[in-house]
Formats: sequence, C-alpha cells, structure tokens
Amino acid sequence: MKWNDLKQLEGLLLETEKHGAIIKEIGRSLQQQPIYSVSVGDKNPDHTIVAIAGMHATEVVGQLALVDLISKLNSENTKRLRYHFVPIADPDFLAENVQQLSEPITLPKLLSLKSIRDLEGYFTSNRYPECEAIRQLLETFPRIDAFFSLHTAPVAPGLFFYVAGKSNDCIASVADRIATMCQPSQIPLLEKDPTVQSQKALFPGFFTIPTAAEMNSSDDRDRCGTSLEFVAKKFQPSFIGVSEIPLGICTRLHNAPIEKIESFNKQLAQNAKVDLPYQELDLSTQIDLIHELVLASGKYLLKQYR
Ligand SMILES: [Zn+2]
Repeated sequence: MKWNDLKQLEGLLLETEKHGAIIKEIGRSLQQQPIYSVSVGDKNPDHTIVAIAGMHATEVVGQLALVDLISKLNSENTKRLRYHFVPIADPDFLAENVQQLSEPITLPKLLSLKSIRDLEGYFTSNRYPECEAIRQLLETFPRIDAFFSLHTAPVAPGLFFYVAGKSNDCIASVADRIATMCQPSQIPLLEKDPTVQSQKALFPGFFTIPTAAEMNSSDDRDRCGTSLEFVAKKFQPSFIGVSEIPLGICTRLHNAPIEKIESFNKQLAQNAKVDLPYQELDLSTQIDLIHELVLASGKYLLKQYR
C-alpha cells in the first residue's frame, strides 16, 4: 500500500472479490455512496473476528490497512476463523479528505485533513445512516469473538491502544506480540494515556477503553454510545481493541499535557517550524502494527480453544 492508494481505495476493496472475498453492500451513505462489508476465511468457523475502519474519516491509515489485510488473508490459511470487515465506514467524508490531498502526500498534509464527524461517539444513535448500516450488519452475526475499531493518532509521544474483553489472557497475548514487534524498531509503548481519557494501563501501551460517558465528562460533549460499547454489550467478545497508531513519534512530548501535543500537531499541519524533533512512522510500519493487532487475537483464540 502507498499513500496514493487512498485515491483508489474503493476500487482496491472491490478487487479483493476476485481472490475469494465476499463483498456485500450493507447500506448507503447520506450521499448515496455504497458502504461495503468484506468477508474472508473459513465459512464454518469456530471464531468470528470483526473490524471496522474510518469511523473518523481523517484517520486514513486504518482504512488502508484493512483493505490491505483482506488481500493478505485471501492468500493465507484462515482455517477455523472468519473475518468480517467494514474498511470504509464513512465514504462521503473519506472522499472529501482524499480530494483535499495533493501529491506528494506528506505528514503535514495528512494532519491538515478536515472532513471528520464522530461516527464512533454517536454509533448507537440514529444520527448517521452509516452507523445504522453497520449496526444492522453486526446484528446478523451469531457471535463476535474479537472486535476492532481502527483509529489513528497524529504525532504522539509513543504508541498506544485501548482494549477490553472478557479474556485477560487474550489481551496479555496481544500486548506481548505488539511489544515484541516494537522492540527492534524502538517504538515506545506509552505508560499512560496521553489523552488522559483512560485511567488504567493494563500493559505498557494498552489502556482500558473509556466509555462514551467518561469521554463526555472530559470534554463536555454528548456522545451516546460507541461501537465498542455496542459490541461489548451484545456479544461479550474475548477481545475488543482500538488502535491509535501515530503518524509520527515525538518522544520529547512524553508526559506533555494534551494541549501541548495538539498545538505541536497544529503547528506541524500548518507546515510551520516545530520546536521539537520528531520521527515519521512509515506507512508500512503503521499498517503492520494494525495487522498484528487484528491477527494476534485470532492466533490466541485458535490456540486456546481447540
Ligand atoms: Zn479516531
């Protein structure tokens, strides 16, 4: 995948059908663009893994990663596992963002994307037809064993995820695999949540998922319920994960208040000089981390339940 593939993401998604993925139109966006689900893997599975991306349409990496993962799974042994993905949750806003992006696609340009609405925070309401379509899809599954909503972060002091689920061992196993992956490339896993929304670290870089109510009390909004809460309540999966893969890492922002991190990113977006050194995380590393998050839970489930 290249940044440029954002311009043909729907085409790349549809192409996976040729290699065995099953694609369904699950609904239409407000501007009548199709919203697709893609299914791959064993048709008579022991475990069902579901991932959605693009609930915040400016966070483009999760969407690239999920389309890329379909191709990878199409050529892999997925015995006993079935994957269902919604790679582009908000096609209208993704299209607006992609239109804004001129080449070459750079970090400041990605930070400047503006078309965003909070499908995650209003997932359980009837505000957005996109959320209704995804909810209806989720309701067709007899079970969900692992669930992911893929988000990304701007430049951050390090890497972090939000996790939940009824299997602590599964969370431990995923955290361990991610840590192993981060070590050689020296990507720091954060000890505490830089957004201060989550109060508890289960493992380095792995925080409990803040509820919509907790998020509202931190910024005074009126979110009603996230996809994570929806799935947790209905399916009680072994694992629930939210990625927050950063576009870049600035270790000097370690322990900085969120306002400082935000102003750093704002400065960078405006292409002005930033006063601290930072390192871009290349796209393939960001995608690999997301793939590892999604695949690690499946590997755990297969080993655990024979
Ligand atoms: Zn997000």
